[in-house]
Amino acid sequence: MSFSENLAEIEARISKACQKAERETAPELVAVSKRQPDERIEAALAAGVRVFGENRVQEAQERWGERRGQYSDLKLRLIGPLQSNKSEDAVALFDAIDVLDRPKLARTLAEAIQKLGKSPDILVQVNTGEEPQKAGVLPADLETFITKTCPEFGITPKGLMCIPPADEPAGPHFALLAKLANRYDLKELSMGMSGDFETAILYGATHIRVGSALFGERDS
Ligand SMILES: *Cc1c(COP(=O)(O)O)cnc(C)c1O
Repeated sequence: MSFSENLAEIEARISKACQKAERETAPELVAVSKRQPDERIEAALAAGVRVFGENRVQEAQERWGERRGQYSDLKLRLIGPLQSNKSEDAVALFDAIDVLDRPKLARTLAEAIQKLGKSPDILVQVNTGEEPQKAGVLPADLETFITKTCPEFGITPKGLMCIPPADEPAGPHFALLAKLANRYDLKELSMGMSGDFETAILYGATHIRVGSALFGERDS
């Protein structure tokens, strides 16, 4: 299938899920372009897609550095783990950073934001499945992180992000993330990928991150 056929199908599934959830506003579709070949990126741009997700700073710089100049309405989101020494590059390139998850990163992001005079939207990643190998603030630590750590560095997160464990139903994780966001009055929920975005929409996702279902399988 062509990119625009995939896009039309995903958009139809999004509106169906919104109807089922009795939602009036659709979530923003973040096209996850990591490790996709150039011709698919060009097809996405030609189809009018402007919001893209990337999980590595350097790869994103290579893919989007020049295109930034051609498409003034591009919105780039960082959705993969960020090393604190890449904070300045990340703040320079991205419009949103979904992966704040530790005090050191809050500090380096805050420094970069000050220095560059840019303020990307910041979301806090939550490790809802409490998986040792996964990034994200543990649910039990979120209160301190949101009410003490972020304010200490002058960061006001807009929302929360999660990646549920691959081997569990996603619904309970999305429900937990929505409950936590509500508790701290955070408006944005970045959750749901190719396999589970309809479920995420039911639980109130404001941003869904869809890669392979839009672009096809990635290079490994
Ligand atoms: C790769 C990735 C996605 C997209 O995954 P698909 O299953 O291809 O839709 C979404 N979110 C994050 C954090 C990712 O790393």
